[in-house]
Amino acid sequence: MLLILKQNANYSSLKEKLNNSSASYKFLDLYGKKLVVTWPDTYVENIKDESIEIAVKSKRQFPLVSNEWKKDPTIVKVKDVEIGGDRLVVAAGPCAVEDEEQVLTVAKAAKRAGAKLLRGGALKPRTSPYSFQGLGERGLEILRKVGDQVGLPVVSEIMDTRQIDMFKKYADMLQIGARNGQNFDLLKEAGKSGMPVLLKRGLGNTVDEWLLAAEYLLLEGNGNVVLCERGIRTFEKATRFTMDIGGMIAAKLQTHLPICADPSHPAGKRELVHSLALAAVAAGADMLLIEVHPNPEKALSDSEQQLTPDSFELLMNRIRALANVLGRKV
Ligand code: PEP
Ligand code: MN
Repeated sequence: MLLILKQNANYSSLKEKLNNSSASYKFLDLYGKKLVVTWPDTYVENIKDESIEIAVKSKRQFPLVSNEWKKDPTIVKVKDVEIGGDRLVVAAGPCAVEDEEQVLTVAKAAKRAGAKLLRGGALKPRTSPYSFQGLGERGLEILRKVGDQVGLPVVSEIMDTRQIDMFKKYADMLQIGARNGQNFDLLKEAGKSGMPVLLKRGLGNTVDEWLLAAEYLLLEGNGNVVLCERGIRTFEKATRFTMDIGGMIAAKLQTHLPICADPSHPAGKRELVHSLALAAVAAGADMLLIEVHPNPEKALSDSEQQLTPDSFELLMNRIRALANVLGRKV
């Protein structure tokens, strides 16, 4: 049950009733509203208290993420960049931070073409332990420096709860990768950090599991969450992963959170990236995350799917044309 409280709520009488009900509960402040989330629902059905404005019995397993109580789309702010609402935000940058010149070249090109955020992995979750694992803290330092130089907030993947302080120092937005889409301890810590989070859908996760992962973040009082569809594992081998446009739309219909699409990882090949990106925009994505490298063939990770800066510029022109038809600003 989600109890929306009056702004002048008197917590003590309500707390007493909740304690007597033996329900689990948590008081939260989200999107300027005072809330209590309680479970299981049946324990609190009969509670009446003058602090309660509305009691919402959610039909879904993720009451906080659900748009049953919050009808207006959430706008997630990453520094001065707003994700959600009328605008379509594009984040671009290399798969992995390799060196300063590489990131600077891409960042300048991305900014010129209209990207609003700079992405780049400093810690890379690689399938093989023998593959390039990322530069670590040095990579974050480079990303921060270049982001400040070019004027783009930065988003980067965090892999472990022990890295929260390091990311607070260098990043503007935490990315939780597909392989950590259900790392519940990491979700809790990212929630507690209060930093904006880009939450990738786990590569074997259903839409409900993905939304429940986001619920972990909101339950820590962090409402700055963008959901990211990045392709799921299916039997299909023609693409690296299957970009689940239908799932993305299904998620959007159930949540107030903005939705991002990453066309690069499901594509696996450059040739597919433009069309997948445009498909996601047509399907209502609020944000795109696109891999761009100054010399993709020489990239230390995901070399087949990264776009050249020229190709990214062309894609941005296409995105703008489509967004214009759909009444969105880029
Ligand atoms: C990435 O964006 O660099 C990445 C590793 O993505 P994913 O977690 O979706 O594989
Ligand atoms: Mn990658």
